[in-house]
Amino acid sequence: VLVLAACSGGGLVAYADSQSDQPQGPKKKKVVVLGTGWGGTTFLRNLDSKLYDVQVISPRNYFAFTPLLPSVTCGTVEPRSVVEPIRRILEKKGGDFKFWEAECFKIDPAKKKIHCRSNAGTNFDGNGEFLVDYDYLVVAVGARSNTFNTPGVEENCHFLKEVEDAQKIRRSVMDCFEKASLPYLNEEERKKNLHFVIVGGGPTGVEFAAELHDFVTEDLSKLYPSVQHLVKISLIEAADHILTMFDKRITNFAEDKFGRNGIDVKTGYKVVKVAKDAITMQNPAAGDVAVPYGMAVWSTGIGTRPFIVDFMKQIGQANRRVLATDEWLRVRECDDVYAVGDCATINQRRVMEDISEIFRVADKDKSGTLTVKEIQDILEDIYVRYPQVKLYMKSKQMNGIADLIRTGNGDTEKESVELSIEEFKKALSLVDSQVKNLPATAQVAAQQGQYLAKCFNKMEYAEENPEGPIRIRGEGRHRFLPFRYRHLGQFAPLGGEQTAAQLPGDWVSIGHSSQWLWYSVYATKQISWRTRALVISDWGRRFIFGRDSSG
Ligand code: FAD
Ligand code: MG
Ligand code: MG
Ligand code: MG
Ligand code: MG
Repeated sequence: VLVLAACSGGGLVAYADSQSDQPQGPKKKKVVVLGTGWGGTTFLRNLDSKLYDVQVISPRNYFAFTPLLPSVTCGTVEPRSVVEPIRRILEKKGGDFKFWEAECFKIDPAKKKIHCRSNAGTNFDGNGEFLVDYDYLVVAVGARSNTFNTPGVEENCHFLKEVEDAQKIRRSVMDCFEKASLPYLNEEERKKNLHFVIVGGGPTGVEFAAELHDFVTEDLSKLYPSVQHLVKISLIEAADHILTMFDKRITNFAEDKFGRNGIDVKTGYKVVKVAKDAITMQNPAAGDVAVPYGMAVWSTGIGTRPFIVDFMKQIGQANRRVLATDEWLRVRECDDVYAVGDCATINQRRVMEDISEIFRVADKDKSGTLTVKEIQDILEDIYVRYPQVKLYMKSKQMNGIADLIRTGNGDTEKESVELSIEEFKKALSLVDSQVKNLPATAQVAAQQGQYLAKCFNKMEYAEENPEGPIRIRGEGRHRFLPFRYRHLGQFAPLGGEQTAAQLPGDWVSIGHSSQWLWYSVYATKQISWRTRALVISDWGRRFIFGRDSSG
């Protein structure tokens, strides 16, 4: 219900009050969720909706299955098949949910309010703005595309982040082919129109290049026989290789395959300017090169949304690039605000900050020294709080003392070795170099959403039972285990019904069998039976009839 309230500036501002129409009972805490992407939706689906009064705010009233967006760009999968209305997801869950289609443009952590704006406009002020109170705020707004301030990108390139982007790319590809086929063009102009440039050799850029290549060779070559030999696809990457986040074997395979397919992979080139009809890139050896193009897709890097930058300034995180949370996904220096997914990173606690505290807790007999046995006894607890220690213990570049801690298990002679605090520090001195930021993936966002929902579901219990399983920390007792990411592997579809898969334990598989694994995983991961049926029927339709080329 919208009611009006006087805001501090004296003017009237609309207020979204979701409780005024509810029967009076014990008042539930208000949870406000920003965003209906991977993080927000997974949080909502796992939240016990009886416990809270939940309001969801997002400029899009649907969840989008982003891993299939590259398939939407070429009509392999229809846009409708990769989205699920958020109201349908919430309705299925039942409980107290409200959804407002609007975007948050300011967070006010001091007053625990957020400022929202609907693009529908017209309320009494005519500006579509309203305020929402929260007890707990879950920020899951994702990231924006990053142009790194490269001139002309915003105006001339397509991005590939949203469903609309994928639809626009699809129309643009068809436009390029139709333009190139017009009777009054010379060869040069036709070539220009059929030069497709992809900037960024990460998973999205690579998958799009592969999709486009398949679309051109499997479908468009039959429909545009007179121009198909003029088509060129270029993939530009500033680093030395594409798919750098994958195993070397996958990178090599992808580069070779693209080479055979005639996709021009330009590594070591940095795009410095995008004009209306030429794209300029830089290479230490070649200098500046300007190439004419028909369509360009910018798929390199993500950045922080402006209102999050503003929020970071308010809470003393102005010197950071990305919003920082602790390992419990609580925004640092800000009570009752949580963040999941691409909009935040976990600021992993360093062992060295807490080393004296760890030493003190481990030294059960208060002797002022630690035996190897004493360290081993709390090692599991340390692993939970500081996952970098576990990574370090598995790595090969350990120093002698750390090696002793690892290997001395059950060996009474080794176990009784005494370490001073200085030696203990030295043993763990390299541990913090193992701290890694989690990647900006749906997998991370979804696991974080799920984790946070579980914490919310147990919040009341935890408040009544403040003792938790964690004993080592530098900042008081915590009631929940910190968030831990479980990497389940990742795919890189490379076109021609071939996919590279990298599963945990560095298990790599490339080829047609992985493509089938990809189909089955992505069918399984669908958010509803409806989208699952749609996606599978799109795939079937494509196998039988090919992709649709109208647009
Ligand atoms: P998003 O899913 O981006 O959700 C953000 C939500 O916030 C959206 O609903 C948005 O509308 C909303 N929002 C934005 N601004 C505001 C505002 N001001 N106020 C309120 N709401 C707002 N990851 C994988 O693991 N595997 C893949 O195969 C994969 N493929 C990808 C392919 C493409 C083309 C893209 C773009 C991404 C892919 N990813 C993949 C990455 C994955 O999509 C992201 O990591 C994931 O979406 C992050 O989830 P999120 O909830 O943080 O953000
Ligand atoms: Mg989200
Ligand atoms: Mg999403
Ligand atoms: Mg993140
Ligand atoms: Mg001791």
